[in-house]
Amino acid sequence: MIILINAYHCKLIIVHSFQVQFAYWITIAGIDGNNKVGSSSIVLSGGYVDDEDMGDVIIYTGHGGNPNGGKQVADQSWDSRGNKALIISELHGLPVRVTRGANHKSIYSPKVGYQYDGLYFVTSHFEEIGKDGYTICRYRLEKERSIVQNNDFNNETKRQQTTILRIVRDSKISRKVKELYGYSCQICNFTIAVKSVMYAEGAHIKPLGIPHNGRDKLDNLLCLCPNHHVMLDKGAFAIADDLTLIGIPGSLKMQPSHILERDNLAYHRSHVFINHE
Ligand SMILES: [Zn+2]
Repeated sequence: MIILINAYHCKLIIVHSFQVQFAYWITIAGIDGNNKVGSSSIVLSGGYVDDEDMGDVIIYTGHGGNPNGGKQVADQSWDSRGNKALIISELHGLPVRVTRGANHKSIYSPKVGYQYDGLYFVTSHFEEIGKDGYTICRYRLEKERSIVQNNDFNNETKRQQTTILRIVRDSKISRKVKELYGYSCQICNFTIAVKSVMYAEGAHIKPLGIPHNGRDKLDNLLCLCPNHHVMLDKGAFAIADDLTLIGIPGSLKMQPSHILERDNLAYHRSHVFINHE
């Protein structure tokens, strides 16, 4: 992949729909971030004094407030499309490609030109006052290989180095079910909003992959909040054919166009919920 950047001090946050096969590259002024796309790439090119680069961990400054690429002269806003795109990447667990330029002051930067440095995940965002005295949007990015699950809880050193990230599968069809319900949970109706970015999870009734081999199709998917997603996956409740819930009170809220495959409900009841009564 070739990245062409003319301006040394431009901050590039590249928005990319993960549902299409081609990336489209837009300078920050032209970013069209919304609930469908996250940021696929960032470029560290030395334009922001607050960027901190520890190699596998980057504390990245958002876009805005320095129109000339020099000093910060205004506050940054979470409503900026590029800044919102990185929150979408965080909430959806989407990887972000990181490229470092020679002008970025870091021992990890190349001597000349630009260098692609792999995939990172946005693991948190926060706000603080930058070195120039204005509010800046901040993101913690962690390199993909540094995010590993570690069950060796006797090893304190390893535990300190480990971040466990719950990455939620987000397919095209999973986004479709979330949009169908406006990102509100089909059980509790709750919608999570983070900096005006809505979050819900696409939950498969018959689990994907071996040994269950459920399908990633609308008739096997629900739009759920994280709590109810985990409860479904772990069999804390099940769903009867009439869509009332078994194990917890209530029933599924359904859009008329959303028809569930009853075989998937039956499979979940017998293989995941495992009701022995
Ligand atoms: Zn819920």
